[in-house]
Amino acid sequence: MITLHGISKTYAQGGLEVQALHPTDLMIGKGEFVAIMGPSGSGKSTLMNILGCLDIPTTGTYELDGKQVQSLTEDELALVRNEKIGFVFQSFNLLPRQTILKNVELPMLYGGVAKAERKARATELLSKVGLGDRLDHRPNELSGGQKQRVAIARALAMNPPILLADEPTGNLDSKSSLDIMRLFEQINGEGATVILVTHEADIAEHARRILRFGDGVIRDDLRKDLAQGEVLT
Ligand code: ADP
Ligand code: MG
Repeated sequence: MITLHGISKTYAQGGLEVQALHPTDLMIGKGEFVAIMGPSGSGKSTLMNILGCLDIPTTGTYELDGKQVQSLTEDELALVRNEKIGFVFQSFNLLPRQTILKNVELPMLYGGVAKAERKARATELLSKVGLGDRLDHRPNELSGGQKQRVAIARALAMNPPILLADEPTGNLDSKSSLDIMRLFEQINGEGATVILVTHEADIAEHARRILRFGDGVIRDDLRKDLAQGEVLT
């Protein structure tokens, strides 16, 4: 599903160059559930933004679901972002003036889905995340956990094969965090590839593979479903 070769990222910071991500090779297969851990500033979000096609790497090649991302035009990239990837952020990033129904409809509006179908699918997704009785509410009327569930429903709107989440439980209490992780497990069980960043070991435990980052390098790649020393071929 995802193959990175020599992907790196250097930022210019006031005349200095900061290498946030050193050349990295990484393969993530269809249906995997991966947690990315590591200290603040170690390059986790940089990698996630590249995976989500929100940022462009300085070097390397990125193959996503059979497409060479670095060869795409801006328009093709926008299409890939809308159809292949659902992105969930720590700070939810919902539109405050719109109802949660409209928030979830938005990717489908960009995707050219007809009005009646948009409404039906957004309603179905909000029911799936347990908010079917809140369609006309605005984000400010919801708790943090509920807002994140809206964001997940929005991320699923175009039925993307990949769901990326950068510290999705970072602003939530432990009960809401557990609800969110159960939802990710369910979505992964239905076939989506799920990749999330977290600081918390108990959150990472929900994943089947854990990547540990340090100073822009993958230090450790642990697959729980393989015996120790076993290698995927
Ligand atoms: P993490 O998500 O692991 O906390 P980041 O990927 O956000 O780490 O940041 C890695 C490094 O890159 C840090 O040194 C950070 O200051 C730098 N960095 C991140 N984004 C930018 C940016 N847009 N411009 C300049 N430097 C950045
Ligand atoms: Mg980050």
